Amino acid sequence: MTLLIKSIFYFNIIMEKPIILSDKKELDLIDPLEELYVRKKICAMCRNFYRLGWVSGTGGGISIRRNNIVFMAPSGVQKEQIKPQDIFILDLEGNILKYPQNKELKLTECAPLFYSAYELRNAGAVLHSHSSNVVLLTFLATIKHPEYEFISEYHFTRLEMLKGISGHGYLDTFILPIIENTPRECELTETLRIAIQEYPKSPAVAVKDHGIYVWGENEDKAKTQAECIDYICEIEIKKRMLGL
Ligand SMILES: [Zn+2]
Repeated sequence: MTLLIKSIFYFNIIMEKPIILSDKKELDLIDPLEELYVRKKICAMCRNFYRLGWVSGTGGGISIRRNNIVFMAPSGVQKEQIKPQDIFILDLEGNILKYPQNKELKLTECAPLFYSAYELRNAGAVLHSHSSNVVLLTFLATIKHPEYEFISEYHFTRLEMLKGISGHGYLDTFILPIIENTPRECELTETLRIAIQEYPKSPAVAVKDHGIYVWGENEDKAKTQAECIDYICEIEIKKRMLGL
């Protein structure tokens, strides 16, 4: 994504005007059956994440990419009730190619954050969770980034579930970067982008008082990364509670 296109995209998202309709050529590149599959997959994942407490109260979100087509759940709706026709479809520059059938649905403010993982990590899917395990963990982080004061770290090691996090094993140290929260979700974009680049081994960036962004090469990988990180956060919290 060029700097100019990126700037236009961020402007559009922040100003709530992401309405640059393309000629929809990109949509010809995706098989209609695959489009339906991804739409349904987003709905199924939202229901699953709702049961886990990750997207309750309309919070959280998910996006899946297929080559240069991006699917995104809408904003401000009960995620467990999303239907396949409620999904936004965009191109890689953030232009909306297909709107949901319900014209009152809005694109999520998470969009520029999802795009950051697509651009900087070549992710195939990104999810945003408001998991209470992750939020509690963010209060326990005391290690500061040497240069960026808005980034803190939590170090995990000697946990079997670390094997589920890309590039990590039981004896490795997984460093989870945590950035400071902002009043609006889209205002996290610049600090999230810095954290993504500063911690190339992490498939996630947590947000203090808020939640986490997790990505993977596809939606299944993003899901398992998120599950493993949530599990190790819960273990660390319970270890503190037990005084271990
Ligand atoms: Zn959020």
